[in-house]
Amino acid sequence: MVKFIFITGGVLSSVGKGILTSSIGKMLQTRGLKVTAIKVDPYVNADAGTMNPYIHGEVYVTEDGGETDLDLGWYERFLDINLEKENNITTGQVFQAVISKERRGDFLGRCVQIVPHITDEIKHRIRFVAEKSRTDIVLTECGGTVGDIEGLPFLEAIRQMRLEEGFANTLYVHVALVPILDVTGEMKTKPLQHSVNELRRIGIQPDIIVARCRQMIDSEALRKIALFGTIPEKAVFCSYNVESIYRVPLILDEQGMGEHVCKRLKLPQQKPDWTEWKQFVNSVSNPRFDLKIALVGKYAGLVDSYVSMNEALRHSGAACQTRVQIDYIEAETFEQNQDKLKILQKYDGIFIPYGFGPRGTEGKMMAIHFAREKDIPFLGICYGFQLAVIEFARNVCGLENANSTEINPDTPHPVIDLMPEQRDVENKGATMRLGAHKIILKRDTLAHRLYGAEEIYERHRHRWEVNPQHWDTLKKHGLVFSGKSPDGRRMEILELPDRFFFLASQFHGEFKSRPSKPSPEYYGFVRACLDRKQGRSAPEFKLEPTEVPSLRRK
Ligand code: GLN
Repeated sequence: MVKFIFITGGVLSSVGKGILTSSIGKMLQTRGLKVTAIKVDPYVNADAGTMNPYIHGEVYVTEDGGETDLDLGWYERFLDINLEKENNITTGQVFQAVISKERRGDFLGRCVQIVPHITDEIKHRIRFVAEKSRTDIVLTECGGTVGDIEGLPFLEAIRQMRLEEGFANTLYVHVALVPILDVTGEMKTKPLQHSVNELRRIGIQPDIIVARCRQMIDSEALRKIALFGTIPEKAVFCSYNVESIYRVPLILDEQGMGEHVCKRLKLPQQKPDWTEWKQFVNSVSNPRFDLKIALVGKYAGLVDSYVSMNEALRHSGAACQTRVQIDYIEAETFEQNQDKLKILQKYDGIFIPYGFGPRGTEGKMMAIHFAREKDIPFLGICYGFQLAVIEFARNVCGLENANSTEINPDTPHPVIDLMPEQRDVENKGATMRLGAHKIILKRDTLAHRLYGAEEIYERHRHRWEVNPQHWDTLKKHGLVFSGKSPDGRRMEILELPDRFFFLASQFHGEFKSRPSKPSPEYYGFVRACLDRKQGRSAPEFKLEPTEVPSLRRK
């Protein structure tokens, strides 16, 4: 019998529901249970793909090409599982499905309503994931804050699931902020009490309350939360600030949360095995070395826009016992003032992330040029890969004004262009080249040594590609394409063998990076930054035996 855990949030958004959901999953997984997680997003968009990362944060891409909410990234990283499109349910998808059924005549004669038709569709989608994933536990995180108009149908659906699945198979967890007043240092539980009341008004009595607080809540606050929340004190937990997000499941489990959840859901009580997780957390918390990396991007003002990239750099840092500090630099800074490029000198590595549209591209290329000329380790991802090709075409191959047709449709040298299959695409939603695709690595290249394999699968999200008409010119001038699609039509990885570390990929290695298994391309970059900083020669990344055996993928 599958067990359903529902996570709701109160008071305000960004209280860390995604991390809490992942942490509960981890506590159960370390006890030998199989878990999956769903994110419910009450917005009307069909998926996150059309949303601006600067407002909403990064779009997370799943193996099957789903463009999903970034919380799925946290589930995948914490639980080391691959999720699917269906693990992200939005209002848009639910209404689209119900309206198509109505148009088909499935409800003939009946009035189609939020209850039961919309709520039935929501429950059907949650159960579909449960059946397909064959897990013991399905965690469902409800996006937004209790009380939002958009969230009501979802809360109604999960309320009904208690009736249908039974008490022992459903669990409601509510997390809310407990602010501390600056002046008196007092912990204020009133906003949390109100959000619990709001939840009860809808018909949901939480079984567990998690107080999100700067520090561990005191016994007075705990007593009040239990009393006004109508739950025993042992069902109140506190998620306080820790130096690493990856420590959250540990601090909650220390408070007895894992055991409590198992008892309440009548799951077998097993001792959790935290060995691997603790090893990783300890290497994050006790670094021996430091690195400073410049991320030159266009969404630099919002850290969430690059969350998977940050984490992939951190995972790689942990594997080298290194704390990676990332400075976010607006690419346009360099366009406005060339002199500013000098600040890049003080960085151990230069990283160019994904991106869309013309803004900031010249600035990013100036940074790539700087990295190449000064031989500072460089990693480019997706747009970073395309811009590295353009920079090389302009400054090494002498193709003046070379560009991508995304940036300048009239460029004389379109070294980055749309492939024929993208030319007639009209709809914006879900039409990019998406998800995991096979890549063949060229023997005896840096990429081949890093991955330790000849065939890899990595995730994509792009429309433009290296233009086949320019391959030969680029290669003749020393650019090595070390990864290609199996049909040879697409260039996937580039490298410059005469540089300390200069690598870029059309795909996004960060989406598959896991705490104890960092993405090989990110790992290579971080390792190279460290070696150069410590005055060693360029790392060789020997194929066998591997430097960090646990990094190798199946
Ligand atoms: N804008 C580029 C494209 O669509 C790169 C996309 C990206 O960086 N994810 O091809």
